[in-house]
Amino acid sequence: MNGWKLVQVSRGSYMLSGPYAVGVHMHETSGTAVLIDSGPDAATAERLDRELIRRGCAPIAILHTHSHADACGGDAYFISRYPSIRRYATRSAAVCMEYPSLERGWLLETEPPAPAPLSAPDEEPPFGGMTGYLPEGDGPLSFQVRNHVFTIMSLPGHSPGMVGVLTEDRVLYGGDALFGERTLSRQSLLYYSDVEQAQQTMKTLGEATGLKGYVCYHGGAVRDLNSLVIRHGTLLSDTLGFLLDSIRSGTDTLELLVQLMMEKHRLMDEVWAYGLCVSIVQAYLRALRRAGRIDAVVEQGRLIWRPC
Ligand SMILES: [Zn+2]
Repeated sequence: MNGWKLVQVSRGSYMLSGPYAVGVHMHETSGTAVLIDSGPDAATAERLDRELIRRGCAPIAILHTHSHADACGGDAYFISRYPSIRRYATRSAAVCMEYPSLERGWLLETEPPAPAPLSAPDEEPPFGGMTGYLPEGDGPLSFQVRNHVFTIMSLPGHSPGMVGVLTEDRVLYGGDALFGERTLSRQSLLYYSDVEQAQQTMKTLGEATGLKGYVCYHGGAVRDLNSLVIRHGTLLSDTLGFLLDSIRSGTDTLELLVQLMMEKHRLMDEVWAYGLCVSIVQAYLRALRRAGRIDAVVEQGRLIWRPC
């Protein structure tokens, strides 16, 4: 089946086809590969591993763009198969990967999250923790694993500390900074935890030059990066505008705004979808408040949003 093949993006830069475009930077001469994210689960990781074995390459490291479970669910497989594999993420992302309960709040689970494991200073965190940290901060920053050379670009907004990984072949693996056309055709409410940072990331990507390829973790290789960036920018602005207009028309509580948003985007009446929508709406409300467009008051125990 051609749903799980390694597809060349440029020279030694590949991606896994199918719903999770795990990135692979291969040096076939040295027989080594560095993965960018690891897939959602062991089954996907095993499929990818089979492709690597077929090409005579062994993974020596995983660079994580961000902490979400669907991007690091293959780590356990690769650790068990290649015990010396190295794992890297930014410090902000690593905290959530090592202690996932810290990130569960937005899922609105029906059960309270398990307490975060407390490690003694000399005790290994779950999964053995990260081998090291990816550089985090302004400007492109270089990072090297043996003979694989990368540039790390800060692309926050979707999740804290998210980065893109640029290979020496000029292919940028952007994680979930942008979503592919297929995702956009199915859903117009996009998950960003910090809308202002997401807008800055759109600007960064819009100004990126000299790329030979851009890969969305959900959607794969992008044909026209500029138009995809513009579409995301428009969706962000439209959602901000929709919420502001709704508040100006008197929809004044989070509960009612979430209801409007779930109707508008035809989200399922499921607890997880509601929880996700609450989290997204809160991110947009924070952005509108910081921009001085709305403010909040508490009346008889209810939080009320008002236009400024
Ligand atoms: Zn994500």
